[in-house]
Amino acid sequence: MPAQPDAIIWGARIRTLDSDLPTCSAMAIKDGFVAVTGDDDTIRALRGPGTLMIDGRGIAFVPGLTDSHIHPLMGTIRTQGADLFDATSLDQIRERLLAERERVGPNGWVQGWGLHYEPFEETGVRGDLFAGVTADQPMLLEFFDAHTALANRAALAIAGIGGPVAFEEEATVVCSDGIPTGELQEWAAMRLVQDVVPEVDAETRYGWFKDSFRRFSEAGLTAIHAMDGTPAQLDIYRRLEANGDLTCRVVVPLWQQPDTTAAEMRYQLPFRDDRGRLWRCGAAKFFIDGVIETGTAWLVEPDTKGQGVHPFWPEPERYAEAVTLFAGAGFQCITHAVGDRGVQAALDAYEAAGHAAGVHHRIEHIELVQEHDVPRFGELGVVASMQPLHMAAARADGSDEWAARVGPERTAAAFRAQTLRSSGAILALGSDWMVAPFDPRLGMTWARLRRAPGQLEMPPRAGDQALTALQTLAGYTTGAAAAISEDDVSGRIKPGYRADLTGFAAEPVDTDADSLLDLPVLMTIVDGRVVYEGR
Ligand SMILES: [Zn+2]
Repeated sequence: MPAQPDAIIWGARIRTLDSDLPTCSAMAIKDGFVAVTGDDDTIRALRGPGTLMIDGRGIAFVPGLTDSHIHPLMGTIRTQGADLFDATSLDQIRERLLAERERVGPNGWVQGWGLHYEPFEETGVRGDLFAGVTADQPMLLEFFDAHTALANRAALAIAGIGGPVAFEEEATVVCSDGIPTGELQEWAAMRLVQDVVPEVDAETRYGWFKDSFRRFSEAGLTAIHAMDGTPAQLDIYRRLEANGDLTCRVVVPLWQQPDTTAAEMRYQLPFRDDRGRLWRCGAAKFFIDGVIETGTAWLVEPDTKGQGVHPFWPEPERYAEAVTLFAGAGFQCITHAVGDRGVQAALDAYEAAGHAAGVHHRIEHIELVQEHDVPRFGELGVVASMQPLHMAAARADGSDEWAARVGPERTAAAFRAQTLRSSGAILALGSDWMVAPFDPRLGMTWARLRRAPGQLEMPPRAGDQALTALQTLAGYTTGAAAAISEDDVSGRIKPGYRADLTGFAAEPVDTDADSLLDLPVLMTIVDGRVVYEGR
């Protein structure tokens, strides 16, 4: 120990995930890194006059939890309206929209997020279902998967949409007899209305971002892998960090779309090495398909409605070329691929493109995967980034939109987290907030149980794919670190590793999965700094 530690944690129960010293009670922190781990007496003896002593009695620390798939800025903006995530009937949705309408006043837009498809089973997705609530006020609601929106007539009129619209990429303004129903499938269609919603000023927005990071810390997150980003967003992270408001580490990829030109892509290459102390760029994000529930996932065999046969990029070769460009420039490539055909296309593109030394490309979601593609993850070093809690809409009888679309055979082999992990893939877990709540305790619950907590009678979905408690913790720590090639400095509590820690009231690995959600987060430490204390 050359100099006195900045902080010492003592009296704690610490699970390090370091095989040299799997558990300990104390550690010293210097310059944001773990300097040494050990027993209370040894570590406390290192105390200097300026050392902060952190009484860890009653706290069970694990390496800081990472959400490997989250939309921090877009999610913040899109979750400002009514929370419809757990609204299970049209009447419940109406009730919340009524409250939202009162909140925004007679001149505001009525907005909401988190809608599920099941309440629309009988009626279809139609804007006029809420005419009694919104009257002449514009309304824009977003589904939980962020791939479908619902607008009413007033909103469509402001956006100038009176009938079908042609798009270059996969997107639809759904019409019935030539009249838009209000359903907007995929971003190009959604964007037409999103773009006419009045923007709030930059200061208000900044306050929202700051608040989101505070909430990430409260939930015990010490790092996140953001899934959408632009060169302009890098400035927001720069500002958050300069103000001390960035309370967790962020990897920010640059989002490439089918209409991004080759020149626009080349313009972004120099941003690869942009970074602060807690955030960095270095990755590019692509979508090769959409989601199962709207028939936009790219499947080997069509779904039961005959859909799921198109990639999101009308010419997948162009996607592969873009991957080659970014991979060749040393970027990590990250591809959203839900359907088995999409997963194959991403693996093919990665295999053809190669990767810079030490860089692992990633595939996000992998809700379906062909048997022969499973070993390719391990062979090619491609990361499987998965979100078992996306099964939250599952119904035991298979009548949920996801299962109804793919049928029982494919449902029985859904979200193959255990198969991929056992095959040698790096497995990283996350929430995809705002698609699902970001609380890692909920994500861990679904990874372990594959059913909702407390619903003991509910059969788990593809239960053989459940992860053990320790494998689940690894998905949020060591696996998440490996997914961004930072496993030599992150994901474990070990001398030389970053001092990022999540402290619970009890050991999450020893906590029954049905009770995980009730396990209090007592302390979150990032870069050696206590960013949240909840005791
Ligand atoms: Zn996402």
